[in-house]
Amino acid sequence: MQDMLAFHQRFVTEDACIDYLESLRWPDKPICPRCGKTAYALRSRRIYKCGSCLKQFSIRTGTLFDSSRISLQKWFLALFLLPKYRRDGPSSVQLANRLDITQKSAWFMLKRMGELDLKPQQKVRLSTLSSHTALDELLYQSVMPKLK
Ligand SMILES: [Zn+2]
Repeated sequence: MQDMLAFHQRFVTEDACIDYLESLRWPDKPICPRCGKTAYALRSRRIYKCGSCLKQFSIRTGTLFDSSRISLQKWFLALFLLPKYRRDGPSSVQLANRLDITQKSAWFMLKRMGELDLKPQQKVRLSTLSSHTALDELLYQSVMPKLK
């Protein structure tokens, strides 16, 4: 349970989750997911706007977390738990109970996480890593834009 404690200290707020994802995806400056140009921050809500095509977006746009109202803290926790289940992953009931969300939301999250398309060997490897290292890998894959 040491791991779980460290998890909650690391991602203590929603902002901490956003900071971390932004540092993974945009180590330099926020990049427009539509045209690839540099964007600037709008004043509120951690939303960015592309100076070129004018698209507004957030760190979630085009990632595993796109179009979801589930908090990033819950998403991170789901990804943190994922490698522990190794082969089949948690059931939607297990995940719903663990994250205190509806089974429908849990089902949606599992479907999305399935889009990470982890190969069986990857799952085995992730389950051998420390929970935090495995989470870092999964988060990195989660923000690489490839969904749509
Ligand atoms: Zn753009």
